[in-house]
Amino acid sequence: KQLTGNQIRQMFLDYFKSKGHMIEPGASLIPHNDPTLLWINAGVAALKKYFDGSEKPASNRIANAQKSIRTNDIENVGRTARHHTFFEMLGNFSIGDYFKDEAIQFAWEFLTSEEWMGIDKDRLYVSVYTDDARAYEVWTTICGVDPSHILKTDDNFWEIGKGPGGPDSEIFFDRGEKYDPEGLGEKLFFDEMENDRYVEVWNVVFSQYDCDPSIDRKDYKELPQKNIDTGMGLERLVALVQDGETNFDTDLFLPIIRATEAMAKHPYEGEYKMAYRVIADHVRTVTFALSDGANFSNSGRGYVLRRVLRRAVRYGLKLGLDEPFLYKLVPVVADLMEDFYPYLQEHVEFNQKLIKVEEETFKKTLKVGQALLDDEISKAKDGKLSGEVVFKLYDTYGFPFELTQEIAEESGITVSHEDFDAQMNKQKERARNARNVKDSFASQNEELMNFNEPSEFIGYDHLTCDGKII
Ligand code: ATP
Ligand code: MG
Ligand code: MG
Ligand code: MG
Repeated sequence: KQLTGNQIRQMFLDYFKSKGHMIEPGASLIPHNDPTLLWINAGVAALKKYFDGSEKPASNRIANAQKSIRTNDIENVGRTARHHTFFEMLGNFSIGDYFKDEAIQFAWEFLTSEEWMGIDKDRLYVSVYTDDARAYEVWTTICGVDPSHILKTDDNFWEIGKGPGGPDSEIFFDRGEKYDPEGLGEKLFFDEMENDRYVEVWNVVFSQYDCDPSIDRKDYKELPQKNIDTGMGLERLVALVQDGETNFDTDLFLPIIRATEAMAKHPYEGEYKMAYRVIADHVRTVTFALSDGANFSNSGRGYVLRRVLRRAVRYGLKLGLDEPFLYKLVPVVADLMEDFYPYLQEHVEFNQKLIKVEEETFKKTLKVGQALLDDEISKAKDGKLSGEVVFKLYDTYGFPFELTQEIAEESGITVSHEDFDAQMNKQKERARNARNVKDSFASQNEELMNFNEPSEFIGYDHLTCDGKII
């Protein structure tokens, strides 16, 4: 019998409990007392208080399942098999307790032991930092990983400016020849690490140095207290255990997709799959974010949420979902996740109202944008729309470039992608100049911080690339 997503999450926590870890309840998606982060984006982000010493944990071994939002991956959502804006990160942590040897063995045992995930060892690959001789030794001699499955790379070093950091080891899963149309095999892993065939599942970070980019890495001092920080995407683990074509083709998402299908004009097949996946991803993000106290607005976190919702609505149009529909999926998400997140149920009704209003408002915005566009088209004497207008439609009215282009071309008016890109770059430049402080926990989140500036949103220009929207 196949394990469910809920069972797999619980087994992860049970495994680490059996290894003496305290199970820390997942924290809110909204960071507490941390102005450098827009959303909690990793398990460790929620445990920062223990790692920086501002709070003392009841145990130096901790494990959690942490809700995370990463909007820097939004472009990838629906496009790759493995990226979400909302996902759960499973993690185990050592605060000055066990270190590299145990961390590697725990990960390996959990993934491969028949008692736990029982994954075929031959389908696992690992990467280690080139100079991390100990990690290499543990993987090969203790875990028995074949050296031909290990990639040594200088990329596996986790540091952000001055402060704690160190090498890491990532574990990859080979999804098989199906996902390797050119038949490149292991070369794909050794050349690119990550692709549709070799998927990163777990990242194990060995925080052992006091990093200082101004000196040579070989001269970094060892930290008196070494820490372990790991993160594994639940959805990726479930996809590999359930052998899903993508993370979306698992019991964590299919009920949302089926409920969408019941309202849509096209089935979950072929070219329509991407729209379904985007919607399923984004409705989880919006549902969890609202339940954790975020709201739609014109700046910061609320703005990110608004953009995510609008992206889902636009993809809904591709499926013939012309009327508000996202709000109807909220109870589906709550039912699906209530085992581990029972509190979602309390918010369903209120969240549905918020989402419905937001969907309706966006429909109106689209109409206003349409009026502006019609007006500009009638004024476009030289047969061309300026980059400023196209960008304004995109930035203020949520019109993807391709949509504006399509409508303009019907009237024989051209639009230039270069002019549009130039406007986009100007905005990015302004955002960059206004950018915020960095610290070692915020930096993982650097791209996400861009979202403080509305114009940094990078999702829309991809919306129509595989077909017409309206
Ligand atoms: P990727 O290279 O695939 O973007 P990452 O190296 O950025 O992942 P980490 O920061 O190492 O990811 O996070 C630890 C784990 O969390 C990853 O190994 C992966 O399983 C999961 N993860 C990270 N980003 C996402 C995402 N956007 N959607 C789903 N799972 C994710
Ligand atoms: Mg990433
Ligand atoms: Mg990676
Ligand atoms: Mg990683």
